[in-house]
Amino acid sequence: MCGIVGYIGSKSAVDILLDGLTNLEYRGYDSAGVAVNIDGQVELYKAEGKLQNLKDIVEAKKAHIEKSTIGIGHIRWATHGAPTTVNAHPHSCNCGKVAVVHNGIIENYKELRERLEKQGCVFRSQTDTETVAHLVASKYAQTKDLTEAVRLATQEIEGAYALCVIHQDVKDTIVATRRNAPLLVGIGENEYYIASDVPAIIQYTKKAMYLDDNQIVTLTPTSMKYIDENKNPLEPKVEILPWEPVALSKMGYKHFMLKEIHEQPDVVRNVLSGKLRAIDEAITLNEVTLDKDNLKNLNRIQVVACGTSLHAAMVGKYIIEQLCGIAVDVEPASEFIYRRTITDKNTLVIGVSQSGETADTITAVRQAKALGSHILIVTNRPDSTMAREADSLVPVNAGIEVSVAATKSYMAQVISFYLLALYMAEVKESAAKEDIQKLKHELIILPQKIEKVLSHKEDIQICARKFSGAKDFIFIARGINFPTALEGALKLKEISYINATGYTAGELKHGPIAMLDESMPVLSILMKGGVYEKILSNSEEAKARNARMIALTNSEDQKLKDLFENIMYVPEIDEMLSPALAIVPLQLLAYYIAEFLGKDVDQPRNLAKSVTVE
Ligand code: GLU
Repeated sequence: MCGIVGYIGSKSAVDILLDGLTNLEYRGYDSAGVAVNIDGQVELYKAEGKLQNLKDIVEAKKAHIEKSTIGIGHIRWATHGAPTTVNAHPHSCNCGKVAVVHNGIIENYKELRERLEKQGCVFRSQTDTETVAHLVASKYAQTKDLTEAVRLATQEIEGAYALCVIHQDVKDTIVATRRNAPLLVGIGENEYYIASDVPAIIQYTKKAMYLDDNQIVTLTPTSMKYIDENKNPLEPKVEILPWEPVALSKMGYKHFMLKEIHEQPDVVRNVLSGKLRAIDEAITLNEVTLDKDNLKNLNRIQVVACGTSLHAAMVGKYIIEQLCGIAVDVEPASEFIYRRTITDKNTLVIGVSQSGETADTITAVRQAKALGSHILIVTNRPDSTMAREADSLVPVNAGIEVSVAATKSYMAQVISFYLLALYMAEVKESAAKEDIQKLKHELIILPQKIEKVLSHKEDIQICARKFSGAKDFIFIARGINFPTALEGALKLKEISYINATGYTAGELKHGPIAMLDESMPVLSILMKGGVYEKILSNSEEAKARNARMIALTNSEDQKLKDLFENIMYVPEIDEMLSPALAIVPLQLLAYYIAEFLGKDVDQPRNLAKSVTVE
């Protein structure tokens, strides 16, 4: 969510800042801004809306702005105050000498603002962030030391933050710090970079240092001083980022989302690679440290996640319970953290997050860790905060996902849950060998089946065109595909803004059926298996109320042709693995509807890629 980038060195800063922000734009895109220091003056450039608006402003004054060799930049996902130019970062103080960019939320900003206003500070924006600019300015006036000013300011602020600060009077210095929001320093030759995430700086350097909570770094072109909150000097832990610079290219696709949907067969292959080698070989998960004794002592698994990751976790529940015979609870991390939760050393707590930086999930796993649970993290970012705190790790290997609506990372998470369940079942010896081998075989051939869906999209496109005018949409399924219904509905909501809801088909008649009439599309996920006939009956019930029926199925059953107005087919697949295939047409359906409606598919309104605020 939102992004920070900073540069200090001998090159012109502004291009580096704008490049960095371009690579972070998928994480927030309400507004953007940069601050530079030119001829001893701090100058701010800000624009509402997409980054291109800022680029246009900068371009018009390029010859002037490019003189600066120091700068900080920000791309915003508003938490406090509308996404306007005034509220865009960087923020400044009365005298305009300070510039601050911030990711996160200053929770006590109201009290701070009241106090600072009484002291004569004039606020221009509605943001929580501006309090930090005034606070740093006032501390600097007392100390004449920017690092100390930032340190003292952070002692008064509550909440989560990654902060970068410059001051006109110390024109060759950037001070940065963080608490519960990611920040790293990239190290070059007589130059330093700062970023809230790797893609912003990886094209410039692979040498980097992650900041931990409450640490403060002071950068000049030739030095990096690193202290803790009590001013104790720290030794920088420099690491080489295991990343290649990536050109974030659509590779000829109209949108990143469509490209990422098409990458899914390879994503499945990548996830399986090195972990599932053959059906008669045990699953290898090198970074999972649960052994037979750990697993024997487990009486429960608690999974915490948000959004799409939550749906992947719900698929995980079915598989783990089926193969391992351990009870699994899945809960949104944002709910888990505000009540007494019953986790202990006999609970395995699994945190699932694409970015590994989801604030609610980090808090949830930290709480569980404090109560003695083994923490296993399923994430696409093995270098993330969550991964670095894990006892066991399942890296999902989906590659960078640029589209805000998650597709390939969902697929990778779901496949990772199959691997984890199979791994635990093998260690625990809790499932029949034939069942394990059958599922492994199905996993190995899954990519071809996804490819088949991707190469026959006509039915999906027809359906999308036909139903793009719908105001509401209902998705129904049962059992292991209930999460597929939820995820299908979420995709549609996210990118087309159509009100879509997933229900367990059996629940329909307990309330939602009242909404059905000839204007309501009901999409039934009908995968052959234990609950197929049940969903069919529920679909009949919906049809009897005049709903417009759509099926997603792997069945050639002739009955379906009478019951459903449109049918989208997927290849034959074992029910246990069917969520990994059934989701693909639903991703495409959402995509084509949104595209048909002319929506901003990759950057839907109000959303951001990784949600780093609670
Ligand atoms: N809370 C700050 C704001 O609303 C920062 C939001 C962000 O992280 O982009 O401006």
